[in-house]
Amino acid sequence: MKYLDEFSDPQLARRLVDEIKAATSQRWSIMEVCGGQTHSIIRHGIDQLLPDTIEMIHGPGCPVCVTPLEIIDKALEIASRPDVIFCSFGDMLRVPGSERDLFQVKSRGGDVRVVYSPLDALKIAKENPAKQVVFFGIGFETTAPANAMTVYQAKRLGIENFSLLVSHVLVPPAISAIMESPTCRVQAFLAAGHVCTVMGTQEYPPLCDKYKIPIVVTGFEPLDILEGIRRTVLQLESGRHELENAYPRAVQSDGNSAAKAMLLDVFEVTDRAWRGIGTIPSSGWQLSSAYRDYDAEHRFSVTDIHTEESPVCRSGEVLQGLIKPHECEAFGTLCTPRNPLGATMVSSEGACAAYYLYRRLEVSSA
Ligand code: SF4
Repeated sequence: MKYLDEFSDPQLARRLVDEIKAATSQRWSIMEVCGGQTHSIIRHGIDQLLPDTIEMIHGPGCPVCVTPLEIIDKALEIASRPDVIFCSFGDMLRVPGSERDLFQVKSRGGDVRVVYSPLDALKIAKENPAKQVVFFGIGFETTAPANAMTVYQAKRLGIENFSLLVSHVLVPPAISAIMESPTCRVQAFLAAGHVCTVMGTQEYPPLCDKYKIPIVVTGFEPLDILEGIRRTVLQLESGRHELENAYPRAVQSDGNSAAKAMLLDVFEVTDRAWRGIGTIPSSGWQLSSAYRDYDAEHRFSVTDIHTEESPVCRSGEVLQGLIKPHECEAFGTLCTPRNPLGATMVSSEGACAAYYLYRRLEVSSA
């Protein structure tokens, strides 16, 4: 299959692994930002092919995992109302809130619907003028343009019974927060190729300069990831700290200008809470003042819902790369994909789910 098979070629993979081994002279810790990359690394055993001196740290790039519990509880509150049709991508339905999830709301009569595009939710709103239709808009710079376009269309078409529950987050401020953490062990980043497809690469060179770190924009297939690691190691070994694009078949330095213009119109930057990490300044988007009427948090008056995280779950440490999933005491025992205690187990992109799915079940002896 074009763009899949040729990026999984075992011989080429072996050659890249050999080049990485030959280039590596000391210990390096590299963070892959994106949950899709984490899954690819664990699924293909890429971390086990690398020299022992290279540690891959799994970063906070799974959109479901970093969505705060508070937002989940707000979604549950809105979805429980009899006048609401609550629309979401399927991966949010099993994410546990404080006491229940969206599936349970649905089983108790709530009108919760899985859609494949926010535009589907807008269509539902048009067809059900007597109902309030809400779309759960979470994620990184990748999902935000479609959500922005949907709100833009709602306003343009005068569809007033549509609103967006927004929890969008941004990658570059998260990189800054990780680098400024006193416990940071990260020496280089694989940046998320799909985020850069939208936003371009221009936000990253200042981060390379400020924190003296290499950042390599990387794709998601095995050879993409190995090439990203190879370029990162070459930079680390030679003392360079630059932005490199190892995913040129999708990423251009300017990104997608039409998508960026839409984002600029509909959203404005705000401080955002990241699950397990806390609030990161200027790390997310909210609807801009021109579109504030479409903000579900305000429309349904749920802004004062505040929630504490479970004390058992260590997903915050997992998301910051401080522990590996199997080092959590609950991993594989109290916490499994069937009974997830935290979002990094429930989401298919979460590091805990990846470790469980691909049988990384060793429990720490510590
Ligand atoms: S294994 Fe479960 S409880 Fe432990 S950090 Fe992961 S999601 Fe949280």
